[in-house]
Amino acid sequence: MEHNHSNFIRNIIKEDLGSGKRDHVITRFPPEPNGYLHIGHAKSIVINFDLAAEFNGKTNLRFDDTNPLKEDTEYVHAIKEDVQWLGYDWDGLYFASDYFQEMYERAVLLIKKGKAYVDDLTQEEIREYRGTLTEPGKDSPYRDRTIEENLDLFERMRSGEFQNGEKVLRAKIDMSSPNINLRDPVIYRISHATHHNTGDKWCIYPMYAFAHPLEDAIEDVTHSICTTEFEDQRPLYNWIVEECEMSSTPQQIEFGRLNITNAVMSKRKLKQLVDEGFVDGWDDPRMPTISGLRRRGYTPEAIRAFVRETGVSKGSGTVDSQMLDYFVREDLKLKAPRTMGILRPLKVVITNYPEGQVEMLDAEINPENPEMGTRQIPFSREIYIEQEDFMEDPPKKYFRLFPGNEVRLKHAYFIKCEDVIKDEDGNVVEIHCTYDPETKSGSGFTGRKVKGTLHWVDATQAVPAEFRLYEPLILSEDPEELEETEVEKTFLDQVNPNSLQILNGFVEPNMKEVHSQEKFQFFRHGYFNVDPKDTTENNLVFNLIVSLKSSFKL
Ligand code: ATP
Ligand code: MG
Ligand code: MG
Repeated sequence: MEHNHSNFIRNIIKEDLGSGKRDHVITRFPPEPNGYLHIGHAKSIVINFDLAAEFNGKTNLRFDDTNPLKEDTEYVHAIKEDVQWLGYDWDGLYFASDYFQEMYERAVLLIKKGKAYVDDLTQEEIREYRGTLTEPGKDSPYRDRTIEENLDLFERMRSGEFQNGEKVLRAKIDMSSPNINLRDPVIYRISHATHHNTGDKWCIYPMYAFAHPLEDAIEDVTHSICTTEFEDQRPLYNWIVEECEMSSTPQQIEFGRLNITNAVMSKRKLKQLVDEGFVDGWDDPRMPTISGLRRRGYTPEAIRAFVRETGVSKGSGTVDSQMLDYFVREDLKLKAPRTMGILRPLKVVITNYPEGQVEMLDAEINPENPEMGTRQIPFSREIYIEQEDFMEDPPKKYFRLFPGNEVRLKHAYFIKCEDVIKDEDGNVVEIHCTYDPETKSGSGFTGRKVKGTLHWVDATQAVPAEFRLYEPLILSEDPEELEETEVEKTFLDQVNPNSLQILNGFVEPNMKEVHSQEKFQFFRHGYFNVDPKDTTENNLVFNLIVSLKSSFKL
């Protein structure tokens, strides 16, 4: 594993172990099961698991499932699959909801210490009373309820006596704190809803800000790594750990979120794209979800390398998605077999090649990795080339096929364009060429040179295939920023109507047996993945992962 990138959290852990403040390391990845994971979560996963591994520690996967309305076991399964696919094995697998009883008891403890009270104010009133950055908050008229009254009311909240929103439990901290998070935050609310894990056992649920530090402390998490939007909550986090008298004292550390260009990165927005039919599910290859990236053909190695390269710092930034593309090319370069595929077929008849004859040609599987050996590809009188590799009236410096010009067919022969066949409307439907048997690839022919090399497939044996090409799903590089500046527009206005293009072409006959998720480099086109959902025995579907060319430099 590579650990050379700047990471201030590593330094904190080193110091903690060095000074004896800690004698072990436990981290956790705490997703809420309210959607599928995206590449931003991958960053959190890599940071948490890599750091624990580096210091012989442990990492838990904990589902932060304290909001019954949004959570679902479908998401629990998908999240587990994604974490494992990224290459990580958790030590403990936990659900925050398994701690509801303990959390309840800790809340009762706060009440008994005079540190929490039941409030009857409405949500809006609580917000009003909370004040602003420049204005201190006001005490609720219910703030001075006695401990006995609070214990009684909280117990009755739990037993279902009140409606949603009728009462809440608030921590009693400081209504004039400069940190608004400390102005008596709500720690329990009433929600008569069925929970995916605890069913109807509870009708009060802990708020995230109360639950999260307790979850960490219960699991003896030492370093609780989260994103910077929680920085202002850290004093509350520490207050809860201390006042709830937890025996373990986790430390919250914040780092900057990862965003990538031309993508939205919040589960709420991604869910909207799914629910409103902009994409074919959470795993649509255009989505920045882990399952979408997987289906597109990105590899766990590439995602991990990308995330590590972005480093760990306090600042959040938008990273160019071309950097991820760079890493997937790097990863596939030596692994992916080379093959030839024709995306927009144009038939070529080689008029001097014997009718009915088929010869098998040797082709290397990966010139950058000779150990992968060779494959055999058939060649005969009729082949397909790309439509764009022929022009009747070419501009200067066009070195591909045009009347009178000779080109090389990769792994085969030189062919020369002799005739162009058109239909009634003048469209080119077929090219007639001659070949020169002396120019066979591998024969050492040096008699003359040609400038263009084309890929092709044998027309009689080629296998039909569907190619899916992608453009960014979101047109704007920074949709969040755009939403802030143009208030009447949302990210949905930025959805690219041309993000998916489907082409029907052909691949080499030896591709008949490909497996779901296998990756190939199609000569001159790019890297493609065998689509795991829509590929059937009779319909091969290849998703473009990345093209070959890039101006991106690391
Ligand atoms: P979203 O806003 O996208 O729904 P979230 O933060 O609500 O994300 P959680 O399920 O709570 O999603 O996230 C689990 C962990 O992943 C948290 O620790 C969170 O900070 C981290 N995380 C989420 N998004 C990013 C991101 N873009 N970059 C880095 N870490 C992230
Ligand atoms: Mg969250
Ligand atoms: Mg969220």
